[in-house]
Amino acid sequence: MGTNRILLVEDDADNQEMVCFLLERAGYNVITANNGREALAAIQQQQPPDLILLDLSLPDLDGWAVARQLKAAPESQHIPLVALTAHTLPGDRRKALSAGCDGYIAKPMKVATFVEDIRKYLRVALEDKT
Ligand SMILES: [Mg+2]
Repeated sequence: MGTNRILLVEDDADNQEMVCFLLERAGYNVITANNGREALAAIQQQQPPDLILLDLSLPDLDGWAVARQLKAAPESQHIPLVALTAHTLPGDRRKALSAGCDGYIAKPMKVATFVEDIRKYLRVALEDKT
């Protein structure tokens, strides 16, 4: 199995750096998008990633709108989509899932379990395919 590619959609430079560090250290290949439009463009222009990590508070299109568009497009609807968000009030998880996210990781994420959570989402996606 080749290296898994992860598209990280995150506008905050510090968070982007932190997530890239953790994922690259674990052997993943990370592609970054700074906002929703860049994320949608990346999906059109590049080989599809194995997983998309999506911040919900983005400057242009918000993450919920991005999630809906990714799940409506044939190129990206099968890609596991995981919200990475500080929106952690009751109901926020359901709101993310109903916009099309397959999973949800709360910010600030727990460094000790973050990579394992990502592995779990990739594994579930793989099992669904077989
Ligand atoms: Mg943000």
